[in-house]
Amino acid sequence: MKFSTSDLTLLRIRCPKCGQHTEKIVTVLIRKDAIQCGTCGARVSLSTPTNKILIAETAASCARIGEALIKGLKLA
Ligand SMILES: [Zn+2]
Repeated sequence: MKFSTSDLTLLRIRCPKCGQHTEKIVTVLIRKDAIQCGTCGARVSLSTPTNKILIAETAASCARIGEALIKGLKLA
């Protein structure tokens, strides 16, 4: 059984236009290449080097947490 906390984990993405952060669940961020800023409505690219690394590393961390939960709670 594979489990990841991507569905439970929020990641804040910074808008390059207004500087505010918009929170989305990691599952959504993995699937999209851009989101809309919750403050100014600008399109925020997720394929910038910073956002790519943030999303990939957070997704990897969610997978590790999922594994730890399964082990720790002996669900497997
Ligand atoms: Zn904005």
